[in-house]
Amino acid sequence: MPFVCVIGSSNTDMVIKADKLPAPGETVIGGSFLMNPGGKGANQAVAAARLGLPGPGADPLVAPTSVLFVANVGNDVFGRQALQQFEREGIQGDFITTDADEPSGVALIGVDSRGENCIMVASGANARLGEQQVAVALASLTNPEEIVVLLQLETPIPTVAYAIRQSHQRGMRVVLNPAPAQPLDPAVLACLYAITPNETEAELLTGIRVVDEESARQAAQTLHQAGVPNVVITLGARGAFVSNASEAGTLVAAPPVTAVDTTAAGDCFNGALAVALAEGCSLTDAVAFACKAASISVTRMGAQASLPYRHEVDSLPL
Ligand code: ATP
Repeated sequence: MPFVCVIGSSNTDMVIKADKLPAPGETVIGGSFLMNPGGKGANQAVAAARLGLPGPGADPLVAPTSVLFVANVGNDVFGRQALQQFEREGIQGDFITTDADEPSGVALIGVDSRGENCIMVASGANARLGEQQVAVALASLTNPEEIVVLLQLETPIPTVAYAIRQSHQRGMRVVLNPAPAQPLDPAVLACLYAITPNETEAELLTGIRVVDEESARQAAQTLHQAGVPNVVITLGARGAFVSNASEAGTLVAAPPVTAVDTTAAGDCFNGALAVALAEGCSLTDAVAFACKAASISVTRMGAQASLPYRHEVDSLPL
């Protein structure tokens, strides 16, 4: 049975749209208010759950992918809403803990009439996701060869590093989406199956400005030299550059669509990639599947609201 274990953050995004963003000390009376579930970990878990559930007419040989989410939420209304949402999505939440002291993670997002935003995040309970919790979750998993572990960098870096090492040691494939961008311990990079930076994150990790296929290839080479066997650099509307240490690498084009909101495109991509890898696809086929899924997500508004279901991806042309 394919299995994806997502370890990461859960937030509630509170968005106020206004004509302009406030300067320091200024109060701006806003227009609309929206509250959405978010956090890279939660978004990727929801993407994986929706994409791992074969729809009507799907290949009967492809078993549904189980999705386990490991996270820490607060003992408050946001945490409870998040837990309900995970259950509705069919995500296994046995290792989501409720923190007695810290509130749930919250992002306050202001958006002006030109679409510019400013974001403040209070990590809250996400910042207390600890090694012990990850150890218990990983210890519960059997058949490591069927498991893809998917991580991001919105939870404490020592916990992420611990999860990567432990999963690798136990024979699971680990995919790291290194977002938000921050430097990483080279010893940890060597334990990854794949890394999936966007252009900005690839530049931070390699020092190479990624602007086209050639610079993506150079950045991928640098990451291979650091010990990462598989590199996938997402390139927005252009798609993704995929490379393994023994081949030259190739650009997988994104299906052309009219994008209306790219929020969570990267999260959709990573959730989809993990599902396709868990199902046994080659890396290049998994990237093609992820590009298709993410191209649907950018045609819709919102984060989790924009994430597609499997039958929608399967119905796109090859
Ligand atoms: P975000 O932060 O907006 O969630 P990101 O910066 O992490 O995204 P991107 O490289 O912008 O990641 O996008 C991820 C993937 O989404 C791309 O590799 C591509 O497959 C798809 N994608 C993004 N923008 C578009 C677009 N305009 N048209 C088609 N596909 C897109």
